[in-house]
Parts: sequence; C-alpha cells; structure tokens
Amino acid sequence: MRHAILGDIHANLAAFQAVLEDIETRGGFDEIWCLGDIVGYGPEPHACIELLQQYKSACVVGNHDWAAIGRIDILDFNPDAARACRWTAKQLTTEDADYLQSLAVKLTRGDFTLVHGSPRQPIWEYLLSVDGAKDNFSDFDTRFCLVGHSHVPLIFRQTKDGNCFVTEIPDTISLEYEKHRLIINPGGVGQPRDGDPRASYAIYDSDAQVIYHYRVDYDIAVTQKKMVEYGLPLPLALRLNYGH
Ligand code: ZN
Repeated sequence: MRHAILGDIHANLAAFQAVLEDIETRGGFDEIWCLGDIVGYGPEPHACIELLQQYKSACVVGNHDWAAIGRIDILDFNPDAARACRWTAKQLTTEDADYLQSLAVKLTRGDFTLVHGSPRQPIWEYLLSVDGAKDNFSDFDTRFCLVGHSHVPLIFRQTKDGNCFVTEIPDTISLEYEKHRLIINPGGVGQPRDGDPRASYAIYDSDAQVIYHYRVDYDIAVTQKKMVEYGLPLPLALRLNYGH
C-alpha cells in the first residue's frame, strides 16, 4: 500500500492539486494520511474538503479546522489568522462543518500514530526543537509518529538511551534499517514555512517500508489572486512567495 502523507493543506487548492498530480506521476497512492489543517489561511476551504473526500483517507483534525467550526477560540490566533478564520467559517457548507467535526484528534495506523501538533498536545504543540520532541516520545506507543502544524519538514530520532536528535527530512527513509523511533513532519502542502515555497509532502510505501519526501512547484499566483479577490489578509498571500 502507498500512503500519501499530507499536512497543512490550508485551503490551498492549487498546491493540493499539484501534489496529487505529482503523486500520480510517481505511481499513485491507495490512501491519504492527512495531518490536519485542511482549512484556514487559504482561499478554497470548501473545494479542498470536497477534493479530500474523493479519496480514501485517514485524517486527524488541526487547530484551524477546529477554529473554523467554533470548537476553539480564535482569540488564540494572530489577527490575520483570526480574520482568515472568520472568512473560512462562512465558506463551509453544513456538510463541510460536519466532516471537520467528525475528525479524530489522534489516529493509529499500523506502526504509525497520526496527530496534527504533537502526541502530547495533538492540537496546539509545535514540535520544532529537540527539547520539545524528546518528552513526546513517551506519549505514543507506535514506532513512528507523523505530525504537522509547524509546516517545517523535520525528523526527530529517539536514541536507545532516551536522547533525541533532529535533522532535515531526507529524500528517502528506509524504515527496515531504521534503529530509532521517529517523529516525522512531512512539511506543509499549502503554506510551507521552511524558506522553500514549494509544496512539501511524503509517501509511505508499506510494502517497501520506505518513506519518500518530495517538493512540488505549484502556481502560487493562482492562490494569491483568489486570496486578494476574496479580501483575505495580504501578508498571508505574500508569505506564500517565500515559504515563511
Ligand atoms: Zn497549519
């Protein structure tokens, strides 16, 4: 089975479609593992939910998904994110909202735990440092954990003595030869923040026991034009150019 690991789509339909097309050229996939924040920031929340629902998927909920359906307070968001969130809430159909409402906070699939933020705090915690990641290895039981939320592709490894180290995610991770427990962030599809504006995602091939990490160009201007047209905050559109 091939699993497309997609995090932080953020209502960026052009990026989402580019990723799906890229996967097709690489042999396709059987199921999407979605790491939350399907909506928020971007201009096409309804279309992204609709497209995701066309595929078999295991999907966890993100903070922006919950904010869009009023399950968390947008006072916790910065002003631009809060404005985008209020706009997003108005674009959702009842079915879209029901779908977001139905999503689990944490899922387990084989050797993998799926969460948006961290295993310890699935909605809110950003895993960007060794100190933060280190304590989180005791909060999941599987060998591997997949996270989103920071939009930065990273891999944390837990050593036998309980220490932890972090690296950029390599193009290929062979799980058969992997001695460590791992927390893996595939990066963001719809709003990358590692200084590379290309959409970031991964494929897990369970037969080969390999995870592949890919970057894909997409038409950023298409997304930006819609954001301007719909009156979404300009800084949210401009940041897509820089991957910040
Ligand atoms: Zn996000």
